[in-house]
Amino acid sequence: MLVRKRRRHGPCRRQALLALLVLGCVLLMLGALHPPPHALPRAPPVPQAAVRSPQAAYRLDFGDPQEWLLESEEEDQEYGPLPPLVSLREDQLLVAVASLRAGRNRSRGGRGGGYRLIQRPHKQQDAEAPERDWAAEEEDGEDEAASEEGERTALSREEAPSARSPAHRGGSRHPLCLQQPPPTDSLPTASVVLCFHDEAWSTLLRTVHSILDTAPRAFLKEIVLVDDLSQQGQLKMALSEHVARLEGVKLLRSNRRLGASRARMLGAARATGDVLVFMDTHCECQPGWLEPLLARIAGDRSRVVSPVLDVIDWKTLQYYPSEDQQRGVLDWKLDFHWEPLPERERRALTSPVSPIRSPVVPGGVVAMDRHYFQNTGAYDPLLSLQGGENLELSLKTWLCGGSVEILPCSRVGHLYRNEDAHSQREREATLQNKVRIAETWLGSFKETFYRHSPEALSLSKAGKPDCMERQQLQRRLGCRTFHWFLANVYPELYPLERRPRFSGKLHNTGLGFCADCAAEGAAPGCAVVLAPCSDAQQQQNGMIVHILSGKCMEAVVQENNKDLYLRECDGKASQLWRFDNVSTVDER
Ligand code: UDP
Ligand code: MN
Repeated sequence: MLVRKRRRHGPCRRQALLALLVLGCVLLMLGALHPPPHALPRAPPVPQAAVRSPQAAYRLDFGDPQEWLLESEEEDQEYGPLPPLVSLREDQLLVAVASLRAGRNRSRGGRGGGYRLIQRPHKQQDAEAPERDWAAEEEDGEDEAASEEGERTALSREEAPSARSPAHRGGSRHPLCLQQPPPTDSLPTASVVLCFHDEAWSTLLRTVHSILDTAPRAFLKEIVLVDDLSQQGQLKMALSEHVARLEGVKLLRSNRRLGASRARMLGAARATGDVLVFMDTHCECQPGWLEPLLARIAGDRSRVVSPVLDVIDWKTLQYYPSEDQQRGVLDWKLDFHWEPLPERERRALTSPVSPIRSPVVPGGVVAMDRHYFQNTGAYDPLLSLQGGENLELSLKTWLCGGSVEILPCSRVGHLYRNEDAHSQREREATLQNKVRIAETWLGSFKETFYRHSPEALSLSKAGKPDCMERQQLQRRLGCRTFHWFLANVYPELYPLERRPRFSGKLHNTGLGFCADCAAEGAAPGCAVVLAPCSDAQQQQNGMIVHILSGKCMEAVVQENNKDLYLRECDGKASQLWRFDNVSTVDER
């Protein structure tokens, strides 16, 4: 891994820069002899590590402040493993050049405080960048035109009347969030890692500025931008210049396409905050979004937490607040969905804004303790491009001793792309990632996945992925099986065909009637009715609870009517049942 000076300057410009540098040194020496009335900011001393390091497999050089080009020496295939960055000491890898802006005027007012008002780069700077590739943007699916037209100069919605919405004036949080704010005296600090590949300029910048505008400076250690080999011209020079004017924002550029999870890992390896927040680069943070995440992680370092994600329409950029009590789930195609919290879980909450146990976190924004993330194997380094990294992280967390939550008092808007907007290559990568996840984490339940996704089955037949690293990790961390996840975290997903089956008589012990199956001929399935029982045995009685509604099966016998109902569980005689003549059919 090399760290080199950025090469955006041609050879002539480089010579000119060198000459300027020499001239600068001479002036500095003269300046030391005869200090001018207003001293210029000085270049910082070179850190020791930078001088000692030529024997290493990377070279150190000075980059512009805040920005580094990270060059891989590897010639392997495009998605080969990332060099072990995590094992390198920070000071061996990067040379931090102290900000030359330290002494500059800081005039930005506004909510966040401490930041200068950022203008869009001048037309002249834009002109240096090659023509924008509109076709590529369309393929990305984001309506850049809507984003640009509506808010040509505004990088925050507050300044863009066209995009204002009630959600932004009052915030979309439940009023209880304001009444019970998390204590802010001892919160950990956060590094927000934003990786991007050819993201639209305005959505990328709005993400950065909404973080700067909403995250209290005391808790925001830094924003780490990771350019995952973008091709769009504006994301090169214009972005470098824009970022150079922001404090606390680093920009890393990879010379290889890493894909979202490895680009996030690259940013994480250089983050210094206590907590990592991974965020997509088309988000808008609501006031107060960060503190609940930090407070919850401070309470238990093995929690992986996400805000509620509000919906930003990809065409109109309209902002739609989501419901408070939702959880993230997966289906048997390993796709992610939001679903309203089931009644049973809702009743267990102490308040409408209590943290919500969630089988899966969404992909857009997720936070966790930095050391917890690194010590539990980060992301699977062989996941390609994008898709599935949220599922991998969630399963690993649940199965290897942590927990996953959505926090209703934290809200971030996420621009959901139209499914059709994903390119063929992205869809293939997502499918490939799902196969990896199934082979790594699902155990024998991967067969259920393959039954629901024939295209994944054929992909897996074409070649099994190499999951050695993850399997070793599972052994090292002592992770549980997917059966445990299904039984304890998301029972609703338990495949019907693998649930233990009972055959026998279901006896209502209070009323002496039996739930019977009115089967006609050999047709599968039957209507369940209440009928007299022929004999009785002594077994344990119990209630039969319908998982989704949390209600109990009750036998109701009136003059002209006998039937089965689902009613609130209260343990009365008509809700007590036992299985008679049980035989278990387990097809595992
Ligand atoms: N991304 C990246 N490299 C890639 C693909 C995606 O850095 O090869 C970034 C992308 O710019 C975004 C994040 O990863 O910030 C997640 O991707 P995306 O939002 O497209 O996923 P989605 O939300 O559609 O699942
Ligand atoms: Mn996204």
